[in-house]
Amino acid sequence: MAKKEFQTESKRILDLMINSIYTHKEIFLRELLSNASDAVDKLAYKALTDDGVGMNRSDFKIHLSVDKDARTLTVSDNGIGMTEEELESNLGVIARSGSLQFKEEMAKAHGEEGENGDTDIIGQFGVGFYSAFMVADEITVITKPYGGDTAWRWQSSGADGYTIEPCEKETVGTDIILHIKPDGEEEQFSQYLEQSRIQRLVKKYSDYIRYPITMEVEKERMKEKPADAPEDYKPEWETYTETDTLNSMVPLWQRPKKDVTQEEYDRFYQDKFGDYQPPLATIKVDAEGLVSYKALLFIPGHTPYDFYTREYEKGLQLYSSGVLIMDKCGDLLPEHFRFVKGVVDTPDVSLNISRELLQHTRQLKVISTNLEKKIKAELLRLQKEDEEKYRQFWTAFGRQIKYGVVGEYGAHKDLLLDLLLFPSSHDDKPTTLAAYKERMKEDQTFIYYAVGEDAGKLSKLPQAERILDKGYEILYLTEDVDEFCMQTIREYDGKTLKSINDEDALPETEEEKKAAEEKAEEAKDVLAFLKETLGDRIAEARISKILKSHPVCMTAEGPMSLEMEKYFKRNGGELMAGMSAQRVLELNADSEAYAALKRAVDSDKELAKKYAELLYCQALLIADLPLEDPSAYTDLVCSLMK
Ligand code: ADP
Ligand code: MG
Repeated sequence: MAKKEFQTESKRILDLMINSIYTHKEIFLRELLSNASDAVDKLAYKALTDDGVGMNRSDFKIHLSVDKDARTLTVSDNGIGMTEEELESNLGVIARSGSLQFKEEMAKAHGEEGENGDTDIIGQFGVGFYSAFMVADEITVITKPYGGDTAWRWQSSGADGYTIEPCEKETVGTDIILHIKPDGEEEQFSQYLEQSRIQRLVKKYSDYIRYPITMEVEKERMKEKPADAPEDYKPEWETYTETDTLNSMVPLWQRPKKDVTQEEYDRFYQDKFGDYQPPLATIKVDAEGLVSYKALLFIPGHTPYDFYTREYEKGLQLYSSGVLIMDKCGDLLPEHFRFVKGVVDTPDVSLNISRELLQHTRQLKVISTNLEKKIKAELLRLQKEDEEKYRQFWTAFGRQIKYGVVGEYGAHKDLLLDLLLFPSSHDDKPTTLAAYKERMKEDQTFIYYAVGEDAGKLSKLPQAERILDKGYEILYLTEDVDEFCMQTIREYDGKTLKSINDEDALPETEEEKKAAEEKAEEAKDVLAFLKETLGDRIAEARISKILKSHPVCMTAEGPMSLEMEKYFKRNGGELMAGMSAQRVLELNADSEAYAALKRAVDSDKELAKKYAELLYCQALLIADLPLEDPSAYTDLVCSLMK
């Protein structure tokens, strides 16, 4: 019998499969089961209108069998089967099959000789029938088409070609017989002959195929105790085989919500995503329209240990009509909601890339935009209806939401604004910006915030006193990202966000303005003296408009705040570590310390220099900035005690 050649492009794909270094070779089973399911679908559809088929829906199935001695794994279906021509055109030529597109995508992505590039694309999209050559060194297909009398045997051991000949087969359908490769040094292909491995693979990838996938499964049981068993009878075990259905056929997300209990959702989440805790919230979506899909999403109750690392990979599981296409489809989730876990099932995305890749992307985009809305709505619902749970969410993922606000130049800030929570001076519970605004005093212009290490310290800042005394609330920001977050938001619902360090944090009346100008004028000499003494260590000394009872504090001018400077020193690496804020030493003109300084400037310049150092160091301490020379500072204080 003559061997036929594969078409050149088929050859190339085959080569790729045979020599594949792809690590998830196990997907071959998913491909074969999905083909079998398609074939069964076609015959089941025919049976609806054609009595000649003589089968009920419940008769259709897919059967797996293993022969360890012969090293074969067989996938049998009682679907539509193939004629000789179909065998030729479906398996001999890469025509309709997704593999063609696969090949083209490969070429596009990696140039003509992208041998190592196979990894990603194999995983993302099925590559169809040929993927079986990743684990098999010979494949035999025995098939009998519906409506034909002859059965056909197709056989190939790879790139050198294939044969087709007539053969015997009683029933309509197809058997795909894989002769599994011998174990190599690095790869144990025998795993695909192991019952438990096959069971797990079916569960993992094909659990929701709508037809039963059956297999003879070896089990153990206790032998029945004989009637005449002696006193010291020990129970005996025996092995037996039984046909088991390996897949559950109906996915949870396809069942109506009212039929599923929260416990079932919780268990599903915990099993599927390996969490020891139930989810904080479950979101069920059933969408029809431009793109139809069902989604089942979960918000975890705690931060995964690797969440804020590079290792963490966002994404939702993508199914197409019950077949898993992608384990972590990142395109389905926006970055700011990367903590969400779940499943999307849509018939509108095909298993193979047999459709335009572009179109694919568009559909995923539609889904992800819808899901983004649903996730936000659920979070807002939680915020309203279950404060405690929302705070739990915030503790776990609040930082990610803030990153989302800051990221992409603030492109998503409007979406995320309502989700933010900040500790505040109002009470010990964090507040939303909306609740803050609600509580604002009638004469209050700004939404105030202070940035620092912890709320306790912030509430004692000299700058905070005047604002708190007026009954205005201050948001206490204690995370690295907060300051950037504020700079991105700038304004909430018409109200400007204002640092309590800002010179104009408290708007002045005309009279106050005048008085301040006079004070500054009077202090000119003192301020000049301070600048001269402290030199480059400060950008400016000024009479403060924000201090009340405290004598001194440090603020900053220009785009970089003191907190940002600290942040860059901690995280910025060499490049940023040298960056400093433009420090402003602020003095309270009504304080005794100021009066003493002024007297000294007029009468005793040496003493005045000491006072200048002292006030500067105190301002650093209050601002939580390091002293340049702590022992010089203590010596200075002690010298003043004499
Ligand atoms: P795709 O499934 O994207 O078409 P495959 O490479 O998986 O690509 O399969 C190629 C073709 O071979 C299928 O379209 C189908 O016509 C045929 N085929 C594969 N397996 C079977 C089967 N078990 N029964 C009938 N036809 C099959
Ligand atoms: Mg296929």
